[in-house]
Amino acid sequence: MLLEVQNLTKIFTSGLIGGYQVRAVDNVTFSIKEGEIVSLVGESGSGKTTIGKLILRLIKPTSGKILFKGEDIWSFDKDKLMNYYYKNVQAVFQDPFASFNPLYKVDRVFDLVFRTFLKNVSDVEKDELVRRALESVGLNPREILGKFPHQLSGGQLQRILIARALLVEPSLLIADEAVSMLDASTRIDVLNLLGEFRDNHGTSVIFITHDLALGYYISDKIIIMYRGSIVEWGDTEKVFDNPLHPYTKMLLESVPDLNVKWEFKGIEPEREEGKVWELKGCKFAPRCSLAKDKCWKIRPEPVEVEKNHWVACHLYGGS
Ligand code: SF4
Repeated sequence: MLLEVQNLTKIFTSGLIGGYQVRAVDNVTFSIKEGEIVSLVGESGSGKTTIGKLILRLIKPTSGKILFKGEDIWSFDKDKLMNYYYKNVQAVFQDPFASFNPLYKVDRVFDLVFRTFLKNVSDVEKDELVRRALESVGLNPREILGKFPHQLSGGQLQRILIARALLVEPSLLIADEAVSMLDASTRIDVLNLLGEFRDNHGTSVIFITHDLALGYYISDKIIIMYRGSIVEWGDTEKVFDNPLHPYTKMLLESVPDLNVKWEFKGIEPEREEGKVWELKGCKFAPRCSLAKDKCWKIRPEPVEVEKNHWVACHLYGGS
């Protein structure tokens, strides 16, 4: 297994509200195989981006483990973290403009990769690697190199960042809302690009998105998150063909078109923010028309309803 997330929990304490605690990630378990694309889908506040940060070791979990090729990522010393883990696990984030210094040419983003991970590469080899990386993401190096960020589009900049991430041939790419600022056609191009990399290089992808349609388009497996917990997950086709959790059904009913960017329109956000985290039972109960007495008292355990399709809801027994 490439990556195993085991009972991962992250609690943030807000100093503003007298030490009020929020379980941003609540006992989350999942795994990713080599060459697999897995989408983490959820609204703002679902914990998906926090999971990305935990996997990138940018923040420490409150409890639980993340294993990379069987090793606890928090057992890595600085050297192993930089030269092994970060070489294998790369990330692309939402805003491509934020990753470039407007005062420098875009070429500069490749320098850090060479300084950190590819120290023994000659200048001639560097030029060749950058050229090939740019071509592999559909960019013409002559139209890109030597330009300043403002001279390029958001789509071109995001492709450069993907090229940079893939320069070191990582085993895992974390794409956190990586296409959400792009226009519709560029977005599909970039998704196809990620799929091609999986096919050609066996790169696994964790695709973090609030956009269920994009998750459907790109992923082999899909994980639906609500308030820090996984509520339904499995093979993408199975979850879409046979959605079970009331929250997943609600999300699917809101998808107008698989090729168009959409937000979670029509879904009323939970108003009583703090109250949800105090619930002993199902976190979705305040929004669920099917909630029964048991739902308010007992947290539903995951049940495998068919092969590779799990749901955490009392409607499906087993808890
Ligand atoms: Fe609704 Fe109960 Fe299922 Fe939660 S456990 S989603 S409240 S039916």
